[in-house]
Amino acid sequence: MSVINQVKNSCKHQTLVEIKTTTYNVYVGEYETDYEWVWKSTEEDIDLHRYKCTQCGEIGYYSSVAENYYTKGIKNPMLGPNCV
Ligand SMILES: [Zn+2]
Repeated sequence: MSVINQVKNSCKHQTLVEIKTTTYNVYVGEYETDYEWVWKSTEEDIDLHRYKCTQCGEIGYYSSVAENYYTKGIKNPMLGPNCV
């Protein structure tokens, strides 16, 4: 099952973000700008115990309790008063 998912979805749930930092170089006496590329997660919280990738739309769950609640409708008091 997980193998099939990997083939279907090649999304890493990450994106490269450019970080710009300006530092003052005391030796040269002027500001220097550095650019750095870092990997940033594209997964955002959309619900209680649930997140979604903004790139591929894949929904993930922080726990099996949350997955059971959203996919099977199994309520659990661990998820809070609204899910009991
Ligand atoms: Zn993704």
